[in-house]
Amino acid sequence: MSPPDRYAVFGHPIRHSQSPRIHGLFAEQTGQALTYTAEDVEPGAFEPSVKQFFSEGGRGLNCTVPLKELAFQLADTLSDRARLAKAVNTLALREDGSVHGDNTDGVGLLRDLTENLGIAISGQRLLILGAGGATRGILAPLLEHRPARITVANRTTAKALQLAQEFQPLGPVDGCGLEDIAGLNFDLILNATAASLSGELPPLPAGLLATGGCAYDLAYARAPTPFVRWGISVGARLSVDGIGMLVEQAAEAFVLWRGVRPHTAPVIALLNAERQAPG
Ligand code: NDP
Repeated sequence: MSPPDRYAVFGHPIRHSQSPRIHGLFAEQTGQALTYTAEDVEPGAFEPSVKQFFSEGGRGLNCTVPLKELAFQLADTLSDRARLAKAVNTLALREDGSVHGDNTDGVGLLRDLTENLGIAISGQRLLILGAGGATRGILAPLLEHRPARITVANRTTAKALQLAQEFQPLGPVDGCGLEDIAGLNFDLILNATAASLSGELPPLPAGLLATGGCAYDLAYARAPTPFVRWGISVGARLSVDGIGMLVEQAAEAFVLWRGVRPHTAPVIALLNAERQAPG
């Protein structure tokens, strides 16, 4: 009997990654024989580590912070969405030995927002806080859903302006500094800053969220993040974190690697139930 196919997530830090758990549940559910591990890989060791992984029989990799731009540079071929995002979160070894790069973050977010949570994008006014790799990955798929406008607000204003300029051909998007959003009003606010990871929240002015609006933190944690708590405190219709996006982007990578689509709803339900359990 041949050994199970090997997959892994590379990142730094990686200790708290939920990806091995999620892919393990997908494999069990779909009857696929595979292993999936989490490896702590620093940027300087990324390229040799990827080469070693694939030369030793690895079939596919996820890449997370801070390796997505390096994965973009390393891939031999790229999907259109990875090329637009200039970042790769999924690498797949092809039959001919080449390495294909994809970015499943955007489609993962859209599936969670529109299919799992029933949040409409079309005609809505969106605010994205942060202008890093995650924002780069979600702008094009969000614009495809025809929002009225997307405003990208970032601590470093120049990065928000740059992103807005780059994505303007795809739809109405503008950029500004975090200090420029006072007096504005949005139907959906997405937190794509890394602030939640350190338990922080960028300063947000009163009246930012429209009545009946929703708040979505791309970050996720065992307890509600500061941004999720902020959404609840300002009366958001829904205020949730990015665990659903994490499961959906993983499902899309699983499809690319295995050609089988796992059911995501039971996996999201299980992870949420575990978070609500005491201890
Ligand atoms: P990057 O490091 O590329 O970008 C971080 C962004 O956060 C920058 O815009 C940065 O601003 C801003 N930022 C960092 N700290 C603060 C702060 N204290 N106050 C205000 N702004 C701050 O990270 P990513 O874009 O890759 O990731 C962003 C978030 O999205 C992370 O929390 C990550 O976990 C999450 N994510 C979740 C996914 C999921 O599946 N749920 C998938 C991908 C990402 P500046 O430019 O000024 O430095």
